[in-house]
Amino acid sequence: MQDYHPSAELLKNKVILVTGAGDGIGRQSALSFAAHGATLILLGKTVKKLEAVYDELLAQGSPEPAIVPLDLQGATRQHYLDMAETIKQQFGRLDGVLFNAGLLGTLGPLEMIGEDEWDKVIQVNVKSQFLMTQALLPLLKASTPASIIYTSSGVGKRGRAYWGSYAVSKFATEGMMQVLADELSNTRVRVNCINPGATRTAMRARAYPGENPESLRTPAEIMPSYLYLMSDDSLEVTGQSLDAQPDKVRNSAAD
Ligand code: NDP
Repeated sequence: MQDYHPSAELLKNKVILVTGAGDGIGRQSALSFAAHGATLILLGKTVKKLEAVYDELLAQGSPEPAIVPLDLQGATRQHYLDMAETIKQQFGRLDGVLFNAGLLGTLGPLEMIGEDEWDKVIQVNVKSQFLMTQALLPLLKASTPASIIYTSSGVGKRGRAYWGSYAVSKFATEGMMQVLADELSNTRVRVNCINPGATRTAMRARAYPGENPESLRTPAEIMPSYLYLMSDDSLEVTGQSLDAQPDKVRNSAAD
């Protein structure tokens, strides 16, 4: 996938929602999707970060984006339904969603995880995606074709000591992707996961404080898989979990 060379107009006329668009991989995805012609809906918790991405998009000459400030921790079904209605009114369509926002939580033995901590991670990483997916599906089904991308992790495919609620949430994400992809197999909405692999972001630095960030790929370097799955080049691909850095998977004790 690193060899994928997308055209400049790959995502022209597409309206794409990115969660966690203010930082890390989500920020870069928003910039990259927009650089290939998409109009972005930037969802995130910290308004200042979203505004900074908004400014960057305008500066790079991309279509004017929309900002949705929303804390996935406290958001209810009604928030997502209202958001879907606003997207319908404002844009009239939705062609893709990248579920990228995620919470690492506290790493440590499963035996020690507090109930509140568990609930927080599952709320942000799993339940919010379930509710948002339900709310957005009518719009996505109306726009053919449409692409849903969930964000997985190496620890969402093979459990590892001390990754507790985060790892469980990523297994759940893989499961949700598979169930939904199967249910939508006769529609033109495709559903896939990306495992970014070890990537130079704030979350990665929290998980591995002793690691040299310079040894990791940047979010910009892992964009080919994201662009491919969001574009019509992947029309036949659904129910898959792609590694954004397949060359690193075997050695990574990380993601
Ligand atoms: P970052 O911590 O850099 O960014 C996470 C983003 O999610 C931020 O924009 C953050 O917003 C947002 N977010 C977190 N909690 C909430 C919330 N309650 N409501 C709304 N937005 C929220 O992480 P990465 O870019 O590294 O990670 C992106 C995705 O990739 C995650 O799903 C992560 O699990 C996954 N991943 C990352 C890997 C890596 O090596 N970096 C490896 C494997 C998977 P704010 O800044 O406002 O808090």
